[in-house]
Amino acid sequence: MATDWVNRELAGLHETGLHRRLRTFQGPPAPRIQLDDREVLLMCSNGYLGLAAHPRVIQAAQQAAADWGTSSAASRLISGNTPLHRNLEKELARLKGTEDAVLFATGYQANLGTIPALVGPGDIVLSDQLNHASLIDGCRLARTRTHPYPHNDTTTAAALLAEHRTRARRALILTDGVFSMDGDQAPLATLADHAQNHDTMLMVDDAHGTGVLGPGGAGTATHQGVADRIDLHMGTLSKALGAEGGFIAGSTPLCDYLRNRSRAFVYSTAPAPPTVAAAHAALQVLQSEPHRIHDLHDRANQMRRGLQDAGLAVPDGETPIIPIHAGKAHDAMAWMQALEKRGVFVAAIRPPTVPPDTSRLRVTVMATHTRADIEEAITAIQDTAPRPPNTPPEATP
Ligand SMILES: *Cc1c(COP(=O)(O)O)cnc(C)c1O
Repeated sequence: MATDWVNRELAGLHETGLHRRLRTFQGPPAPRIQLDDREVLLMCSNGYLGLAAHPRVIQAAQQAAADWGTSSAASRLISGNTPLHRNLEKELARLKGTEDAVLFATGYQANLGTIPALVGPGDIVLSDQLNHASLIDGCRLARTRTHPYPHNDTTTAAALLAEHRTRARRALILTDGVFSMDGDQAPLATLADHAQNHDTMLMVDDAHGTGVLGPGGAGTATHQGVADRIDLHMGTLSKALGAEGGFIAGSTPLCDYLRNRSRAFVYSTAPAPPTVAAAHAALQVLQSEPHRIHDLHDRANQMRRGLQDAGLAVPDGETPIIPIHAGKAHDAMAWMQALEKRGVFVAAIRPPTVPPDTSRLRVTVMATHTRADIEEAITAIQDTAPRPPNTPPEATP
């Protein structure tokens, strides 16, 4: 058959420990969730604030389905635009402190739709090597010259700008605000300096900072005090905000331009009313229940410190994303499976999501985890940790 090669590709994935299969969960993303026929402690959801299971958010989605239907049934520019969409954009602009914001169906689409509208052949992009796949794909789609720079290496980024900027029409620096698999942050002030010195745009993907960092969950740039120096604030509604959809926040002309020139905006159906209403309600809960962000950071600190005290290879950080180094893909998978047997579910992250030999357990905590949940997870992770290769078996008396 013409598709026989697929079986050979799959065999290769199995041999290298890189095959992925879908697991099926029952119920909303909450600290305790049903996996197959048992309950597990969920330690790898991006629903950091527990808002996808919040009664007010659920109620808003239900009401919007009743009032506006379950689909927008057209692009925003045809007949899919409603006051719900416009009000959410205004609220997102308020959160980010910008003049306006543009809504997309997903965060992935926001990046894919925005980068090719900003740059093309004859332009340059500087892109952190650990940037999210959707930023990388956006660059590919733009058919622009992309210069990757080593992770958070602003010196190399500046040198690349000095070398290539003058011959390019436009230039763009792309970075995650919070890096999705490492949980660390970009040095935005320094990147903003370089951008300013070289007449270059700066776009920050804050999928994991929005609703998490800074006063009121405004994001990484606000947390670092440089929000007004970012040209494009990208965010997603699908993580801390408990809904679905992506957005770009920026100036009025920039947003007007994207509504005209971003193909992912023009040629895709407007986000469905229930999800738009859910995101709006989530933003209101963010304001009315500020303890959620506080709880999130309390649990993240407890987890990070507990794992470090247990002697595990865990970097310092300020976010709820806590990577635990495992090395080879097979080792990360074995650790994950041992944890699952203990009733704790943590995803092993393997190439190509992370570079070779940097497979890891990516632990994420939620505001709705109890301190006892975190304690239980730490103990299980410690008990199942693979022994370093040189450690002797059990000490014999
Ligand atoms: C999840 C993620 C996206 C994509 O957002 P979706 O709304 O899930 O499509 C983009 N960038 C980063 C850094 C992410 O982690």
